[in-house]
Amino acid sequence: MRKTEDTYLHKGLRKQLVAQLREKGITDEGVLNAIGMIPRHFFLDSAFDKIAYEDRAFPIAANQTISQPYTVAYQTQLLQVKKGDKVLEIGTGSMYQTTILAAMGAKVFTIERQEELAAKTGQYLFKQQFTDIQFFFGDGFEGLPQLAPFDKIIITAAAPNIPEKLWEQLKVRGVMVIPVDESDGVQRMLRLTKKKDGLAKRESFEEFSFVPMLEGKEVKK
Ligand code: SAH
Repeated sequence: MRKTEDTYLHKGLRKQLVAQLREKGITDEGVLNAIGMIPRHFFLDSAFDKIAYEDRAFPIAANQTISQPYTVAYQTQLLQVKKGDKVLEIGTGSMYQTTILAAMGAKVFTIERQEELAAKTGQYLFKQQFTDIQFFFGDGFEGLPQLAPFDKIIITAAAPNIPEKLWEQLKVRGVMVIPVDESDGVQRMLRLTKKKDGLAKRESFEEFSFVPMLEGKEVKK
């Protein structure tokens, strides 16, 4: 990850972004605070420096994207993150969502299947600040059975269904936030809460459009 500066211009744009997210219905102060604190432009190529605070997705390496700020805020709000929560994230991508979770005090375990992206986590810019993050190169459909169970699981790619192994790795009363394929290129955001009997309480939210959740690992060419 490149070194960069957080100027007054960036800080001002970030404030405007937070105001926009409020207008769009984000109410969780913890989420808004984290987005206001973390420089999103650090997670993008320098060509996108000035537009990093527009509410839109951008390309990163390996044909993947950094999620739109509204999407990050929306998913994080649904996850109801509490300090000390053990959170499993599927799809590390740019590490932006990972950082928002860490800034809210979560212990984050994050998996990426693209080696090119997973390799960048070695130069994570916030290594000193957020020490409770562990990065994994692997297939998110498998989760991390050796580290389960998790309080929360967040999937940041379009899932074809609810991955069974991930569901097993969620605690009772734990929460999973997952965009599940509905029709071509469109996903429905679901929040699943694990009941005592292991079944899911299912809540359905807005539609989103994510890059696909794919099986297996993709080795760097
Ligand atoms: N949270 C990221 C979103 C990146 S886009 C961010 O804030 O930037 C989704 C990411 O999920 C991509 O990097 C993609 O490679 C990854 N992905 C897709 N299927 C996956 C899987 N089975 N396991 C792990 N990562 C996966």
